[in-house]
Amino acid sequence: MFSVRPEDAREGMDDQTPIVFPGITREDFDSFLNYQFRHILPRNDENALVAILNLGHFFQYDAAQADARLALEDLNTFRASRKFILGLRNNIKEWIKDGFQSLVALPYVELSWTADIEPMGLHAYHAVVSTRSTIDAHRRLISYVPPPVEHDASCSFNLGCNIGWRQEWRNKVAMHLMHPDEGLTGEVVLNWLEDVEINDVNKACKDATIRRLRENRVLTQEEEIVARALRDLGIA
Ligand SMILES: [Zn+2]
Repeated sequence: MFSVRPEDAREGMDDQTPIVFPGITREDFDSFLNYQFRHILPRNDENALVAILNLGHFFQYDAAQADARLALEDLNTFRASRKFILGLRNNIKEWIKDGFQSLVALPYVELSWTADIEPMGLHAYHAVVSTRSTIDAHRRLISYVPPPVEHDASCSFNLGCNIGWRQEWRNKVAMHLMHPDEGLTGEVVLNWLEDVEINDVNKACKDATIRRLRENRVLTQEEEIVARALRDLGIA
């Protein structure tokens, strides 16, 4: 049933001719057999769940993959890098995307050599680091340069409106974008701007400016930066 070398009739018949799966340990295989024949899903044993997932994928066993996947998603020890790597290995597109997004989201998680970088491989690690620095540069740029106000016909004092907007941008928007621990994404900042009243800024001008910012997607480019990085990795 689990033959790797079908030409060898003795494969798996005794301890002298074991079935050998490249990269799969005896413990991994035991976990998989326990799931298949004894219906044991070890919900708190991450490595056993990973073994069930990987072997479930190898044998195209859908129930094993689905059960292991749900149990892993429930574990709070499940690292973003592992989700990303397992997504790549087992062709789980949502995991590839979620894992990568978490790896580049703020605040940046510290990556450990043994737990994250080595298993990820240098190619993927390079994509994470360069995406982080592109997002960082983008945030600095939009923080530093307040976008011009789109004045509405009802605006009676353009200059005051401009000054109020620039002050709000420098003192609040920039601070939110550049906050080291709790930096907000451009999308969240736009929602927040929509809800606040800004001193000296005509509401219709503010609304028109936010509308234009949404249209030209300056503040929501982070999603595109991530999508581009995934495309560059060969993952659309
Ligand atoms: Zn105005």
